[in-house]
Amino acid sequence: MNIKLSLLTAACALALSACGNGSAPSSDTAAPAPTDATAPTEAAAPSETATPAEATPAPAAATDAAVTGCETVIEGNDAMQFNAKAITIPASCANFKITLNHVGKMPVAAMGHNVVITTEGNMQGVIADGMAAGIDAGYLKAGDDRVIAHTDLIGGGQTSSVSFAVSDLKAGEAYKFFCSFPGHAALMNGTVTVQ
Ligand code: ZN
Repeated sequence: MNIKLSLLTAACALALSACGNGSAPSSDTAAPAPTDATAPTEAAAPSETATPAEATPAPAAATDAAVTGCETVIEGNDAMQFNAKAITIPASCANFKITLNHVGKMPVAAMGHNVVITTEGNMQGVIADGMAAGIDAGYLKAGDDRVIAHTDLIGGGQTSSVSFAVSDLKAGEAYKFFCSFPGHAALMNGTVTVQ
């Protein structure tokens, strides 16, 4: 128990944005599952990600996108999931590049993914208009100026990248990245922060 708790603490220390960012308490605090009364915090951190942390020292990778220089790579899969819940863009970057790898096998019409960035406030409107625009439009309204950046909508085995000016993100504004395929953003979303 003590070992597990200290591992969780270590995971929190590494995944600062996942555990320390009060603006995104969605999955961390929402799951005090009553199944194990002795360790309610354990439910907040999926044991599948905590367990391999004993072997590999990078538990933060499960939630915080790994940023190298001024770019990151995010995976989407056939289970309607991104492998990251947060992207932290270094403020020193003039431009930032996001590459989406669809690591699944399903075609775009069934399990299409993209990465779209908007303000948190514009997210639902962009999704609704994207659904109306249809798959041929990549589930984004043409010329939607609420969209700060987006990759193409892709299917399993495909890759798409997008670069954008970091100056497009304003200090003090909350931003999200998500997939605009109908229904996907409920699971496939995360925060975008410049710091
Ligand atoms: Zn998707």
